[in-house]
Amino acid sequence: MSNSPSASVIELARSNVRELTPYQSARRLGGNGDVWLNANEYPLAPEFQLTAQTFNRYPECQPKAVIERYAAYAGVATDQVLVSRGADESIELLIRAFCEPGKDAVLYCPPTYGMYGVSAETFGIERRTVGTKENWQLDLQAIADNLANVKLVYVCSPNNPTGNLIDAADLRALLEMTQGKAIVAIDEAYIDFCPQASVVAWLQDFPHLAILRTLSKAFALAGLRCGFTLANPPLIELLLKVIAPYPLSTPVADIAAQALSDEGITVMRTRVKEIAETRAWLQEALQQCPCVEQVFGSDSNYLMARFTASSIVFKTLWDQGIILRDQNKQSGLAGCLRITIGTRQECQRVIDVLQVLPGAGESSSADDANPTRVKLSPSKEPM
Ligand SMILES: *Cc1c(COP(=O)(O)O)cnc(C)c1O
Repeated sequence: MSNSPSASVIELARSNVRELTPYQSARRLGGNGDVWLNANEYPLAPEFQLTAQTFNRYPECQPKAVIERYAAYAGVATDQVLVSRGADESIELLIRAFCEPGKDAVLYCPPTYGMYGVSAETFGIERRTVGTKENWQLDLQAIADNLANVKLVYVCSPNNPTGNLIDAADLRALLEMTQGKAIVAIDEAYIDFCPQASVVAWLQDFPHLAILRTLSKAFALAGLRCGFTLANPPLIELLLKVIAPYPLSTPVADIAAQALSDEGITVMRTRVKEIAETRAWLQEALQQCPCVEQVFGSDSNYLMARFTASSIVFKTLWDQGIILRDQNKQSGLAGCLRITIGTRQECQRVIDVLQVLPGAGESSSADDANPTRVKLSPSKEPM
């Protein structure tokens, strides 16, 4: 086997990369859907025109207009903002700046976003997981007991996929417990849906706080690949040491600046209100479906629900072109599916299918014909 040329290439790879399970993005999972409710994207494309033409020149590393406008939007100084290729790049930059392979660990609290673990694994950094309590809040005592060698703690609030905010008092206690020992990265990818819950004002108290933001969710620009880190200047300067020389292409910077104009922010706020209304409608409608056990509250652009037979529900919707995100394999989330808030019509299509599925103990012709065989192919999802 090792004689074959491609086998030897594989043997040359770093062992942690050979063993790596890559992030199963919604796009990679494929499917023939026409209703995509699996990646927390906005269902409609905002329109932009390119204004920049200087494609012969390298772009600015940190485009001034983007930095200034995001700083104004977030209520911080311009030297407290770093822009990068999505919040995912920010997750990685923190590891590159702070964690040494074979020595340091990152800590996070499942069920949560899958990229913290994937990025750590890619860089050969130990992953220390401390499960949340049953209510999906931080288990502060268990975190305190597991901080040895931890250089970086990721907390997602509102949490993906559960949708809940993390208690502010717990976040503050975590920041106090880690002072001088580790960086705390609060992932606020969904904070534009509940801006009052941001911890951005705490930057003045905590030099080891980093806040992750993105244009992918409330700004409806997942395809742009643009995200931000908010932190105090010494931390930002460390990240600038390890970032690529030109992380944002000229068209990305151009469109990001437009999205962050006064008009762009007004459009985003209108979109947030519309999504909140559709979410309230969907939550109510889901609660009336016999196959739904529980719908969890959400401060974001998705809802998570527990179903009596989630794999049947997932497959039935999949077969009709409606793609959800299966959370069944995450710790504590047996039977749970995550549903992105689409258009009102898309959400109606979900409900039309779910309304006629049977609940627990009820029998249906579909169940009788197909008692336990319904197993779905897309699996191995870290998120
Ligand atoms: C979507 C998401 C991200 C990634 O954002 P990008 O800017 O698209 O890379 C980061 N964290 C969480 C929790 C997310 O859901």
